[in-house]
Amino acid sequence: MYDLVVKNGLVVTAEQASIADVAVAGERIAAVGRGLGGAVELDATGCYVIPGAVDGHVHFDDPTFPPYALPTADSFATGTRAAAFGGTTTVVDFAQPAVGQSLLDGVEQRRADADGEAVIDYGLHVNIRDPDPARLDEVPDLFRRGVPSLKLYMAYDGYRIPDAAIFRAMTAFGAEGGLAILHAENDDVIRELGARLAAEGKTGPEWLVSACPPEAEAEAVHRAIALAGIAGARLLVFHLSCAQAAHEVRRAKQRGADVAGEVTSHGLALEQSALRSGDLHAQSLAVRPPLRDAAQRDALWDALAAGTVDIVSSDHCPRVPRDGFNPAGASGVETRLSLVHELGVRTGRIDLSRWVSACCTRPAEIFGLERKGRLRAGCDADIVVFDPSREVTLSVDALHSALPFSTYEGIAVRGFPVTTISRGEVIVADGEFRGQAGRGRFVERGY
Ligand code: MN
Repeated sequence: MYDLVVKNGLVVTAEQASIADVAVAGERIAAVGRGLGGAVELDATGCYVIPGAVDGHVHFDDPTFPPYALPTADSFATGTRAAAFGGTTTVVDFAQPAVGQSLLDGVEQRRADADGEAVIDYGLHVNIRDPDPARLDEVPDLFRRGVPSLKLYMAYDGYRIPDAAIFRAMTAFGAEGGLAILHAENDDVIRELGARLAAEGKTGPEWLVSACPPEAEAEAVHRAIALAGIAGARLLVFHLSCAQAAHEVRRAKQRGADVAGEVTSHGLALEQSALRSGDLHAQSLAVRPPLRDAAQRDALWDALAAGTVDIVSSDHCPRVPRDGFNPAGASGVETRLSLVHELGVRTGRIDLSRWVSACCTRPAEIFGLERKGRLRAGCDADIVVFDPSREVTLSVDALHSALPFSTYEGIAVRGFPVTTISRGEVIVADGEFRGQAGRGRFVERGY
């Protein structure tokens, strides 16, 4: 007799789908099979039973980009709660130590923001802006504390660092087997084009895509791949937004480079026509790299289906924006799983296993979350019951982010999580939150 059994659902993994029961003992999955009995049994007939989704790219309570941008709307408390409603049971956010600050201190400080608030498990990447010897000497200790991934920016004043510094940081992380994660854009070109547009009075969000041509992204992706190759670091390129950038990742994979690609759920769902002046919703979508046209969006789906792109993240970074091209951000942590199902699985672009792979299993593998992302005995009992017939119109009222408007307002989806289980505990059921702030734990990731 197990503690909990999720019975009779279509168990979907990254490899296959079949009707089975999933049994839980304590905080772990104990067995997957038929005819399993539990003290508590949850009937999932007609539903998919999938691993709790893993979103390796979120920004809660984000201090990035002062003084340009306002803090993000979601704290760890509201953001992880929204994640749980959307079937996500693990997120990876960022520690962003100040220039001159110890990386280990930066991580501890960030954990102090999250512990006591998080309702699901979380990990942290670390951003480095001053990869000098004092910082890089901390890398082995940083890894031992479960932070084996490094975020580097090629864009944004205050965050972008020169290629020499990127290369130095990649080398230090690569020597320990860590992962380098890049925001890859040619910022110099984008600044030049942005200044030229501004001189013509073209500062609204509808001009962002003109300032950020695909080649300025593809060139930076190519450079990031080359630098990581020389440095001997594993590489993940965040938020690929166009065919040209995906092509660079495909070429690298073809020659055997250890390179992975990410797309965002807003990149798969929206297009540049949403970027009109004059309302907060449009301003908030002025993300970088930008939303592009429908052909580019289709190319991202093709790249996801082909495996050129490994994972879909939300890059959840909801801000009430200001004017111009200043850092904005979409709200997606609750909607990612359902949107990829709606726009990918239901349209036939990807199958159920690719959906689970892109949203659950591959992110766990890439980010070193060894007990997450799989329905397998010994893994954490992070389980989602997803009802493919549940209809939801995405809106600020239906969703749980603290952002006062929804990125996906009015989009109707068929298929949404109905039960979310985190380490054996039902934290969302029947549209009701049953978890508790602070129950989420910091996860020490492997490498
Ligand atoms: Mn981001």
